[in-house]
Amino acid sequence: MRGFRAYYDNGIVIEYKNKRLIVDPLRKPSGFFNAVLITHGHRDHVNPSALRGVSPLVMSRETASIIRARDNEYLRHIAVSPGSKLLIDDIMIYSLNAGHVIGSLSYMIDFGDLRVGVTGDFNVESSAILSGAERLDVDVLIMEATYGDPEYVFPSRDVLYNELMSIVEGRIKDGVVVLMGQPLGRGQELAALFRDYPLYIEPSIKIINNAIGLKYGRVLSGFPPAGSIVLMGMPRDLGSVIGRLRSKYGSFRAVALSGMYARYSRASRLRSLGVDALPLSSHSDFPGLVDFVLSSGARFVYTVYGNASRFARYLRNELKVMARPLPSAGQLTMDTFL
Ligand SMILES: [Zn+2]
Repeated sequence: MRGFRAYYDNGIVIEYKNKRLIVDPLRKPSGFFNAVLITHGHRDHVNPSALRGVSPLVMSRETASIIRARDNEYLRHIAVSPGSKLLIDDIMIYSLNAGHVIGSLSYMIDFGDLRVGVTGDFNVESSAILSGAERLDVDVLIMEATYGDPEYVFPSRDVLYNELMSIVEGRIKDGVVVLMGQPLGRGQELAALFRDYPLYIEPSIKIINNAIGLKYGRVLSGFPPAGSIVLMGMPRDLGSVIGRLRSKYGSFRAVALSGMYARYSRASRLRSLGVDALPLSSHSDFPGLVDFVLSSGARFVYTVYGNASRFARYLRNELKVMARPLPSAGQLTMDTFL
């Protein structure tokens, strides 16, 4: 372990002996890196303009396609997929399915005498379009902790799918059902789930779906006919969208989908607007995160994003796992973890 350190500096930096890698940098990487790895296409993990000319840049073919279609940015890269092995400067980089969104990857970085896993965002549960995240058999695990709080326990996907299905099936003849969630994530999962229904999809989602060959549904423009299912991102001005639906249709159902709605307070705010909220997420819930740590056998765990501090504390206090939030570059001098 001597010679190893990991920290956050506009991306996850991993150093071991004379090797350096960065994962999901949001600014142009400065200094030398043996490799720059991208886990998936969400904007809090990839900033295409910062990656122009960066080399060697590693990502999945799907993530590159999404960036090209959505951001109009073609990035020269090495395309990998789950099961790929890549040897760069004596570092073996394994790509694994992260189960988060289309094209999402976890990485296992093998330095020969030390294996480091980086989950990226991940979901251990399989969905209509993705299988669950593969476990990482590593010495050091750097993992996301978005829902690393015991309050976040999601019903199984089957339960949530059935609930959604009954809402969609019960759609009213004179109204529409509006499903709202992350364009990259819910946008593909729900398009696949409701492909046999009269489905209208917001352009920002359709662009992504077309780029990865998911051709279901029509592009939404204006108000679709009554009896339709509408798939859209979560609008900033939810109140005015609801107002327009109310004035156009005799009745409607609107459902917001995100893991955050496992928290009663978050969901009840939407319900007061007449919007249902279901915790259908691209992330693992709290029990899923705990299981993932235990199955990895990692000796050290760094947590990052979301509830990183809270989850690290839980791992230390309740499970006796050596865990801490990933330090920032500025905290490194105080880092006595390893
Ligand atoms: Zn994500």
